[in-house]
Amino acid sequence: MTSQTHHLLQKLPVDLYRLPLGEWDTFFRELGLKPETQKQVFEALYHGDETDIMSMTGLDARDRDILSRAAVIQCAHKQELKRSGDGSYRLTLRLHDGYLAETVIIPEWKDGKLRKCTASISSQIGCFFGCSFCATGRMGFHRNLSTGELLDQVRIAESVVRDEIRTGLSHLYFMGMGEPMHNYRAISDALAIMRDKNAPGPPPPQITVSTVGLFRQIRMLAADHPGVRLAVSIHSADQRKRYEIMPVSSRLGLPDIREALVFHQRQTGYPSTIQYLMMKGINDGTEDARNLTAFLGDLYANITLIMYNDVPDAGMQRTGLDRIQSFRTVLADAGFPVDIRWCYGEDIEAGCGQLKAGCEQDQATHREERIKVSMRHGSPIEKAHRGSISGTPR
Ligand code: SF4
Repeated sequence: MTSQTHHLLQKLPVDLYRLPLGEWDTFFRELGLKPETQKQVFEALYHGDETDIMSMTGLDARDRDILSRAAVIQCAHKQELKRSGDGSYRLTLRLHDGYLAETVIIPEWKDGKLRKCTASISSQIGCFFGCSFCATGRMGFHRNLSTGELLDQVRIAESVVRDEIRTGLSHLYFMGMGEPMHNYRAISDALAIMRDKNAPGPPPPQITVSTVGLFRQIRMLAADHPGVRLAVSIHSADQRKRYEIMPVSSRLGLPDIREALVFHQRQTGYPSTIQYLMMKGINDGTEDARNLTAFLGDLYANITLIMYNDVPDAGMQRTGLDRIQSFRTVLADAGFPVDIRWCYGEDIEAGCGQLKAGCEQDQATHREERIKVSMRHGSPIEKAHRGSISGTPR
C-alpha cells in the first residue's frame, strides 16, 4: 500500500466527488477492484449522472458491496430557481452538508434569436479574498467545492436551460462564488472530465476560468488546459488603488500578473479577457483608463467593462453611462476591443459581485443541517468500523 493510499483509506468513506483524478487508480486497486470496474464507476458518475452506487447497473454485487462501504458520492441537489425580469436565472443548489451554492444562467438574445447561453459556476462557499465590492467576499471562506459539485452545477444548469428555453449551454464561466484558481485542483479535474464529449458542458474553447490574478495558477492552467480561456479581473492598473479595492493585491503584483498573461497567451494562442468593474469616482477616470492601456501594452487582450451592481454597505456606486463611454473610448483608441457587460439578474441578486448564498440568515440553518447530516452518517471512522474494508480482498 502506498503512503498516499494509506492516507486515503484512513479517511473512509472517501467521497468519490472529491477524490483527485490522479488517485482513482490507486484507490480502486487497493480496494481490490478491477480497472474495468473503476472505468464503469467513473463513467456512470461523470458521464451518466448516476450518483447512487447501489443503482449503478453493470457492477457485480461483490464490487458494489465493497465500493458502497468504502465510498460515498456527496452530490448537490437543485433547491431553487429564480427568474429575473431580464431573462437570466439564479440557480441555488443544496450541498450534502447544508451549504448553498449559486449558479447564474444568462441567455442572450438578438433579433428574437438566442445568441449564447452562459452559465457562471461557483467554485467555493464564500471566498478568502474579501474584495471590497463583493458580497461573496464578506462571507469569509467556508470551503472549496469538490470536482463533482462543480460538475453538478453544470449538469443541473444544462437541465434548467433545456427545460426553460429548449437549448444547451453554449458557454461556461468559472466565475460565480469564490476564486476558482484558489480551488485549482478541483477546477483542473473538472476541466479534464469536461474534455470528454459525453461529459456535461460545452467544449473547452467555450469555457473560461476567471481569476483575480493568481499568477502561478494562470501558468498551470495554460500548461494543463491550453484549450481553456482565461479572464482576469484587474479593476485598477494602479497597484495602490488595486490594493484598496482588492486586498489580495498585496501578494499579486501587477508585473507578475502581466507575465503570466503573456505566458498564457503564448501557450494557448487565445486573447485574455481583462475584466474591469466600473466604480464611480474610484477607478473610472481618464487617468485610470490610461493606466490600464499602459499596463496592457501590446498584450493580446479583450477588455470587458462591467457595470457595478449594488452590494449593501459596500459604499460604492455605479459609474454613469457617459463616463463608461469615455473610458471605453480611451481603451478603444489604444486598439483594444471593448465590451460592456450590462447588468443581468440584479433584481434576483444574481449580478456580478452579488452572490452570497449560504450567508447571514441562512448560516444558523446550515449549521443545524450539517450537524444533522453528520449524525445521520456517523463519523468517517465509525462508518469504516461498521464496514468490512479490512476484510476486502487484496
Ligand atoms: Fe472572492 Fe472574486 Fe468576490 Fe474577490 S470578487 S471576494 S475573489 S469571489
